[in-house]
This record gives sequence, C-alpha cells and structure tokens, in this order.
Amino acid sequence: SDFISSNSKKLEPYRRQVSYEPGAPKPVNGCFAVLARNQDWRSLRESMKQMEDRFNHQFNYPYVFLNDEPFSEEFKNMTRSMTNADVHYGQIPKEHWSYPEWIDQDKAKEKRKEMVANKVMYGGSESYRHMCRFESGLFFKHELMQQFDYYWRLEPGIKYLCDITYDPFLYMKERKIRYGWTIGIYELMDTVPTLWESVKKFIAHNPDLIPAHNSLWWVSRDNGTSYNGCHFWSNFEIADLSFYRSEAYTKFFDFLDKEGGFFYERWGDAPVHSIAAALFLQKEEVHWFNDIGYLHPGWQHCPSGDAWAKNRCTCDPNDEEKTITAAGWGRCSREWELLPDTPAKYRKARVD
Ligand code: GDP
Ligand code: MN
Repeated sequence: SDFISSNSKKLEPYRRQVSYEPGAPKPVNGCFAVLARNQDWRSLRESMKQMEDRFNHQFNYPYVFLNDEPFSEEFKNMTRSMTNADVHYGQIPKEHWSYPEWIDQDKAKEKRKEMVANKVMYGGSESYRHMCRFESGLFFKHELMQQFDYYWRLEPGIKYLCDITYDPFLYMKERKIRYGWTIGIYELMDTVPTLWESVKKFIAHNPDLIPAHNSLWWVSRDNGTSYNGCHFWSNFEIADLSFYRSEAYTKFFDFLDKEGGFFYERWGDAPVHSIAAALFLQKEEVHWFNDIGYLHPGWQHCPSGDAWAKNRCTCDPNDEEKTITAAGWGRCSREWELLPDTPAKYRKARVD
C-alpha cells in the first residue's frame, strides 16, 4: 500500500547500546507476570518466543509464572528453556482463587445460567470469574511479586509485531507513568451491567480518594453518570505496582469485591483496572505505547509511521480485519488523545 512504500526506510541499528545481563540488577525492578494453566505451555512458548526476540533477549527481565494449581515439571521445563532470564513459579493461595464467604453461590450459579442463555462470552465459566477477580485485585499480592515494583503482563498465544528497542519499564519510571497500554476498546456491556452503579456508590462513599484532575472523561462523557465501555485491554499491560498497592486501589477493589459482580455478573479485570486508572490517575500518568505492535487473538494494534518502519513491524496498519481502527471498536484508543491535558501546575508525571 501507499503507506508502506512511503515509509520503507533503512533499519535502525537492531541492537542499541542498552542491554542487561540475566540475573543482573536492572534499572527498574520489573518482571513479566504470566498467569497460566499447565496445558498452556505450548501457546506460552509462542508468546515467550515473541517477547524474547522482539525485546527481552537484550533486557533479560525475569518472568513470574502463577497458577491456581501446582505447575508441572513439563510446564517449567518448556517455559524455562525459552529464556536466559530468571524464572519463578508460584501457586496462588486458595483464598485468592475461591468464593469469598459473602458470595451466595446458588445465586451465582443462577446468574451463570442466565448469561449462558443470553450467550454472553465466558458467561458459564466459574474459572474465568476467579481469573478475572485474581487479575483485578490479587495478583500483585502474591509473595513472588513482592520483590517487584513494575510488571508487564504476558498471556499465551499473543504476538509482538514490532521490535521494542528501548526499555518500557525505564521509560515509565523516568516519567512517573503508572499505567501503560496499547489497545483501548469497548467492553461487552452485558458482562458489566451494574459495574458503573457500584463505581458510583464507591465514589459517593470515598470522595476524598478521587482527585480533581483525573482521566474520568475517557470512561464517562457525562461526568460520571454513565460508563461508555472504554477500557484498556489488560492482556497487555505495564504498570507501576504501587498503583495497585495504593490505599485508593485497595479500597476500590475491596468495595467491588463485596458488591459481588465478579460472580453475579462477569466483571473483567480490564474494565476494573481501567476505571481505577480513570478515577485515580491523571492523563500524563497513563501512557499509550502507540509504538508497540501487539496482537491478542481478536484484535491487533499496528503502529504507523516511523515506528512501523524502524521497528520491523510484521503487521499491516491498514488491515481492517485485524487492526483495531478509530472507526470501530478501537475508537477508545483515539479518544484517549482527546482527553484534556492536566493543567501544568497540577501535573504529577514528567511530560516530554
Ligand atoms: P481471554 O484473553 O479473556 O480470552 O482469556 P484467556 O483464556 O486468555 O485467560 C486470561 C489469562 O488467564 C491467560 O493468561 C490464561 O492463561 C489465564 N487463565 C485463564 N483461566 C485460567 C485458569 O483457570 N487457571 C489459570 N492458572 N490460568 C488461567
Ligand atoms: Mn487471552
């Protein structure tokens, strides 16, 4: 296409100076966090191959693998052998992957049946709900995560579509960015019918936790009356864990957990993380890694312009079947750019 031919420049030198040895201290205490089942090792090797070839062979950030069951020797061997970086394997404590005592399990079962009848994606799955609750509010409490300050989520079966020649953790730390994303998309609203009602209750009970300059506009165009469904697709996510460990986020998650929507509906960790970022963070504390090409089955983000040409992207930004575009489900990404800047004197993040 015109786009590609007009951008076919010479490659940047593939290896820059920056590289860190396996096991050596890094400028940022970052890790990959991977939630997976034992049988996921095959599609996880594909993800790790992508991550290593596109990024981590130079940076050697460690991996933390978590599972609700004990990891098999096969899983450990099949993942350890994909990287030179340190690897850690942990089991999730039972209380982080089971029903809290206040949940009415008969009601949860009835609700699952209704969602199956209404053909809601994963509507009948119990494990998916435990997964979403764990990823929403508990993964960063695991003992293996305590040594880390930042994390980058990695899932089975994804692809990195362009080289990543700089350290996104360092990029965030230097600028005091607390949340990084690459795909913004609309939610399936029948998975979260009452989530916003609960968010409004939380706001009413905790007005002192909501800063005046936040990113609320991105998720609510009527100043908090309704949720437009925009969220960051959390299967890719890089975050400063102090955001999740903060008093505000802890209270937010605990409040939502008591509301029961992880089990009576099918609240995803993506809208929960995203609404929290919108409530608690300023625009400048949230970064769109627009230059990171990424595919998760269903959609891809394909950079354009210089980033595409320099970083050996293998995607077509004009492929409307796969590439999320401003016209459709991806309008949320583009609208992030319309969010007003925080007035300079209130800004927490360094902007450059
Ligand atoms: P989707 O991306 O929403 O379609 O959901 P996935 O099937 O990719 O699940 C999201 C993440 O949670 C992936 O990293 C999965 O490997 C992981 N996951 C999902 N269900 C389970 C489960 O029951 N046990 C464990 N250990 N991991 C799970
Ligand atoms: Mn997935």
